[in-house]
Amino acid sequence: MVKINKNYLKLQDSYLFSTVAKKVSEFSEKNPDKKVIKLGIGDVTLPIVPAVVESMKKATDEMGRKESFKGYGPEQGYDFLREKIVEYDYKRRGVNIEKDEIFVSDGAKCDTGNIQELFDENNVIAITDPVYPVYLDTNVMAGRAGEYEERTGKFNKIVYMSVNAENNFEPELPKEQVDLIYLCFPNNPTGTVLKKAELKKWIDYAKDNKAIILFDSAYERFIVEDDVPHSIYEVEGAKEVAIEFRSFSKTAGFTGLRCAYTVVPKELQVEGIQLNKLWNRRQTTKFNGVSYVTQRAAEAVYSEEGQKQVKENIEYYQENAKIIRDGLVNAGYTVYGGINSPYIWLKTPNNMKSWDFFDKLLNDVNIVGTPGSGFGPSGEGYFRLTAFGSRENTIEAMERIKKMN
Ligand code: PLP
Repeated sequence: MVKINKNYLKLQDSYLFSTVAKKVSEFSEKNPDKKVIKLGIGDVTLPIVPAVVESMKKATDEMGRKESFKGYGPEQGYDFLREKIVEYDYKRRGVNIEKDEIFVSDGAKCDTGNIQELFDENNVIAITDPVYPVYLDTNVMAGRAGEYEERTGKFNKIVYMSVNAENNFEPELPKEQVDLIYLCFPNNPTGTVLKKAELKKWIDYAKDNKAIILFDSAYERFIVEDDVPHSIYEVEGAKEVAIEFRSFSKTAGFTGLRCAYTVVPKELQVEGIQLNKLWNRRQTTKFNGVSYVTQRAAEAVYSEEGQKQVKENIEYYQENAKIIRDGLVNAGYTVYGGINSPYIWLKTPNNMKSWDFFDKLLNDVNIVGTPGSGFGPSGEGYFRLTAFGSRENTIEAMERIKKMN
């Protein structure tokens, strides 16, 4: 008799964005005259830049001509794109990464979710709390998480590293042995970063404990401060202990186009086995590559025009983030993130519960954000706003919040 993977039954339903959507639609039905401003979802709103669109059009035409048509491409990505990544994202920052250490994919979500397949089911997983939920849920599916405890809102085999105002949003090194450590900086949801010296502690920990760091830098393009590393490989020793995930989603507006990449350095070995070889085997078995047109689109991000245009879009969101940060500070809020990140993480006033603050913002000033508790138990009492809205709406939202009691 066929049996299902029972681990799926342990997954906690994610009510976060569905509950947000339900509350917003109920409010709008009751108050059709009120303009609701949405600063909740982590999706870009500016269109793909012209240099990228042009490149896609050209690539589409190539696909329609016999002499330039392309069938299956290399599963790891075309050389033209991998070479640009090596040059612009790494060499320019003094990091030496080889072309065959880059694996192009259709998203950092898939890659951060799939990577755990390479590791034994008894490895101990460490995640931050709050966290981007993919890291947790994919380990629940694989049977590494243990049992869910209602009382704590946590799985009993996962090591949760709380990040909060008290520890300056820097996760503390675990006291127990952990094997796989997920780090995401600039962080979703808190918008905070780790500087080089802090990241070095994690690299040393991983070396001492024979652990691996899974470093998600999907928001790397938002970094403005000098001493914040864009890549974990800017920190000495990282190539022996870390895999890095990058995405074109937030950096170049590719959330609907889909392109990302993962770096698996050849130095990275577990039990004498190169993880680069394992990931290559995994990808060539289960993945048939990103479309030619999309990879030409990603390549165009690195052209002179592409870089200029993408930078303008990032600067637009960065200005929004500043407007939100300044607006909240002026209104008396305690605010984190939003400097090297499109996310602003605020402390709810008077220790209000995250969902109570959500209701208050929606009802009193018709603004939608995301309750911090939706990202993990330590997110309780916090709230996330994003800089991906329009300038006009961002400014109006801050004016409304200033007037709120
Ligand atoms: N990693 C983090 C931390 C994210 O916040 C997101 C998207 O919100 C992703 C990865 C997903 O990226 P992609 O669109 O490349 O799948």
